[in-house]
Amino acid sequence: MDVLVPSVCVVCERKLVQEEHVLCSSCLSSIVRTEHALIQNNGIDMLFADLVKNVGGSVRYQHGGAWGFYNSNRGQTLRTLIEKGKYGSRPFPEVFEHLGYLAALEFVDSDLFDDIDLLVPVPLHPHRLRKRGFNQAEWICRGISRAMRIPIDTEHLVRVRDNAHQARSQFDQRFENTVRLFQVRYPEEWKNKHVLLVDDVITSGSTLLSCMRQLTPIRGCTVSVFALGWAHN
Ligand SMILES: [Zn+2]
Repeated sequence: MDVLVPSVCVVCERKLVQEEHVLCSSCLSSIVRTEHALIQNNGIDMLFADLVKNVGGSVRYQHGGAWGFYNSNRGQTLRTLIEKGKYGSRPFPEVFEHLGYLAALEFVDSDLFDDIDLLVPVPLHPHRLRKRGFNQAEWICRGISRAMRIPIDTEHLVRVRDNAHQARSQFDQRFENTVRLFQVRYPEEWKNKHVLLVDDVITSGSTLLSCMRQLTPIRGCTVSVFALGWAHN
């Protein structure tokens, strides 16, 4: 597809100067970072430790992190970026590539990317992919890959059902609804691989957990997670 690189800041619409890309430097600095790169057993690790315990502990979760906050006050800039990138009158996949790149660079001193074999974007359902034209998680992976030189795998993890109409009231209900959303094709290819699952935002973690559960039967396959935003209040 044609990639249109915006000439004004996606957030405040001020004209970008030469060194700026996608967003202006003042909007970039207004993204409130989680500092997960600096924190052992950070909020994402605690979230997934709980989720994994709830499903019986068989998921081989290693480590995780999100770049910035996505909740209502602290997450305003990142939310605007992600929403405009995804749903704007002119969606920009480039936004996600650039943010993935910036985020990966800020995680360079953490051990999150150290022994990752594959970057795996959480797949969209084919219907949704056709409608939007791109998978934002895949573009985040492209940015991480540019920074960290890790290959991207979009072939093996597939979405077999959409969860657009899932119930939002009870966690358990949501979890049940997302349990069989994904499938791994040719799982033997991921034997002994350390996979980094990548999504745009982590909220309850149930979508990523649903992916992780599909990896559980693969011998020696371990999983870490990364997202641009963390919707945590
Ligand atoms: Zn701006």
